[in-house]
Amino acid sequence: MRIKHAILSGVLPFTIATHAAAAVVPANQSSDPWYTDAAATTSAKANAAATPEKAKNVILFVGDGMGVTTLTAARILQGQQAGALGEEGYLSFETFPHTALVKTYNVDAQTPDSAGTMTAMMSGVKSDAGVLGVTEDIERGDCNTVSGNELITAIELAELKGLATGIISTARITHATPAAAYAKAADRNWEDDGDMPTAAKEAGCEDIASQLVNFETNLEARIADADVDGLDVVMGGGRRSFLPKDAAFNSNDAVSSVEGDRTDSRDLTAEWKTRYPAGEYVIDKDGFDAIDASSTSKLFGLFNESHMQYEADRGNDVAGEPSLTEMTAKAIDILDNNNNGYLLVVESGRIDHAHHAGSAYGALSDTIELSNAVQAAIDATDPDETLIMVTADHSHVFTIAGYPKRGNPILGKVVNVGETLPTTAADGMPYTTVGYTNGLGFHHLGTETDADAVYSQGNQAGRADLSSIDTEATGFHQEATIPLGSETHAGEDISIHAQGPGSQFARGVVEQNMVFHMINQALDLLTGE
Ligand SMILES: [Zn+2]
Repeated sequence: MRIKHAILSGVLPFTIATHAAAAVVPANQSSDPWYTDAAATTSAKANAAATPEKAKNVILFVGDGMGVTTLTAARILQGQQAGALGEEGYLSFETFPHTALVKTYNVDAQTPDSAGTMTAMMSGVKSDAGVLGVTEDIERGDCNTVSGNELITAIELAELKGLATGIISTARITHATPAAAYAKAADRNWEDDGDMPTAAKEAGCEDIASQLVNFETNLEARIADADVDGLDVVMGGGRRSFLPKDAAFNSNDAVSSVEGDRTDSRDLTAEWKTRYPAGEYVIDKDGFDAIDASSTSKLFGLFNESHMQYEADRGNDVAGEPSLTEMTAKAIDILDNNNNGYLLVVESGRIDHAHHAGSAYGALSDTIELSNAVQAAIDATDPDETLIMVTADHSHVFTIAGYPKRGNPILGKVVNVGETLPTTAADGMPYTTVGYTNGLGFHHLGTETDADAVYSQGNQAGRADLSSIDTEATGFHQEATIPLGSETHAGEDISIHAQGPGSQFARGVVEQNMVFHMINQALDLLTGE
């Protein structure tokens, strides 16, 4: 009746509904902070200015294996580490104005891997699991099927358009996610020549590390009349794929007796320095800290022989490593020297690895650090000219279960609402809130902060008596149901969170290859120079 009257008199139904609510909502409801906070959030969204579509810069953050459950648990842990109950907080990017759910499957896989998913995000085309920068017409592992199936990536298009480009990862820089930004390979495992089958080398395929160092010349060879200046900022782990298998090339950060893996005796770090004599090559925290962003045009940082350390374990690195936050801030400082703008891809690579190892503490600590890195990007950029997107490549079989009471430690045992002691299961034993469907299962490695230490232990999937175990310890690994040598990815949708020009297209349920098209839409990569 009231709504009909409002329409007849030319007043918007929304307005009359609000007035009606004011009359019938009890005062203790309309003054309740839950009510007023959510009302304020709604009005802010209703009153937000229209978002422009074109950006000068794009920063894409990828949390490898960072499913929605991981976000929820990380936000609770972050709050609890700050002394709050935890559930009410947000990770830095969770307050971005635009969000979508993302379908992650590969062309040939229901539950995907990082190579196929990042290929989709970087090229706009979904492909097979395990391959980099090539279409589904590839035969995985067959070098002869690469030619003619290569895809061009957003990083390559940004280079061609004269933008500055950067790639950062806490994994080996030759690992699947970062490699999909710059390499074409029939197998993600071809990180250096020592990893490649003889047939592939004889057929002329180039290993991934070599493709990184030859990025500029390879791109110019593929595109007629192209003249690019190469990747401007590259930072991560994976030094072993760039050095000869010869102890004489070991760095002061080496852990293995022979650091390098290359069997062709090439030193790709020396090749990079020859190609970019004004560039800076650094391998540790001191070298990183000495970089003056205002005068550095090219930066190549390889901070570990394999993956960089877990954030929780970073203090144990031999020669010291920068954090993901520090690398992100430094990269932006260098890239924004280019007045044309930049495209920066940042991967938090080890959320995935900690989940594979069954260490929620490791995965959540790296997720919180990714949130810090995104905050550094927010602080260093103008939201009117920089599109920031935060997403994942795929999820993990990680769950938040039971009925723990509000504020119960997210890494603790379930204590039901109204209780003070851990709740017991039908087998009489307590159980944790977070856990895994599969993997190596329960292990307690004390104060260990390297999640991968679990791989020297046996498989202990199934129930364990946790009565006297501190499940919040850094070295605790959660129970798993199905015994596997490594916990697996999960196939449900992940999320994308976006702010800045062009972020408004992150809405609904979308295919993962839309990420490329959002970058392209914002930067107009295909038009003009
Ligand atoms: Zn993985």
